[in-house]
Amino acid sequence: MTPDARQGLLETIDAEIRGCTGCRLHETRTLAVPGEGSAETEVVFVGEGPGFNEDRQGRPFVGAAGTFLTELLGTVGWSRSDVFITNVVKCRPPGNRDPEPDEIAACAPHLRRQLSAIDPALVVTLGRHSLGAFLPGTRIGQVHGTARPAATDLLPPESTVFAMYHPAAALHQGALRRTLLDDMTAVPIALQGARERRAAAAPRGAAAAMTAGAPDPVAVATVTPGPAPLSETVPGADPESATDQLTLFA
Ligand code: SF4
Repeated sequence: MTPDARQGLLETIDAEIRGCTGCRLHETRTLAVPGEGSAETEVVFVGEGPGFNEDRQGRPFVGAAGTFLTELLGTVGWSRSDVFITNVVKCRPPGNRDPEPDEIAACAPHLRRQLSAIDPALVVTLGRHSLGAFLPGTRIGQVHGTARPAATDLLPPESTVFAMYHPAAALHQGALRRTLLDDMTAVPIALQGARERRAAAAPRGAAAAMTAGAPDPVAVATVTPGPAPLSETVPGADPESATDQLTLFA
């Protein structure tokens, strides 16, 4: 797909989301929040759902948690425009309650189409609802800071998922700020591993073409050379943290 075609497809999906009435959340939203960022990126960050500010502005992660997400990206030399940022539900649940399973299911086709258009090597989940959509049956306190093969129909199996706490976790529990910063340092490493997994899964000719001609929208200068462990546990991990029970919105 050409960059123009990819951008056009994302804009079509955006328009469909902004007019969507696929679940009850459309009744209470101000604006739907499709997501934003680079259509050509290799990395998509997926949060849980829009919060108050996002609902008003129609943009993801624009509140305090968004400020911290921007800071996290900056620690590895990335900006918001280097990646794509979205949520598992595109409309704010009233009062920032948990999205219901039927709401997540109703919104999944939008996310699936966005991911199909972008075709990222790596999805970074932010928070337990996003984690549940990509790695069902896992607990964020046990898997944050690690990368695993995708285990969902939202992504092809050669894609990789990296789990993180939601940035808002640091606003509720100060100690998790250090955890999020530590986990973020492993994301470029996970990207390197994700690239290698995809290259290994591609037909030989396609892999060669990828290596020779693929754009590199996310700077690799910060990527630690060498194969990325797919289940590396980052120092400082807090496997029993109760934060996986928090409901966290941008
Ligand atoms: Fe449609 Fe998703 Fe919004 Fe529900 S949350 S109305 S499925 S865009």
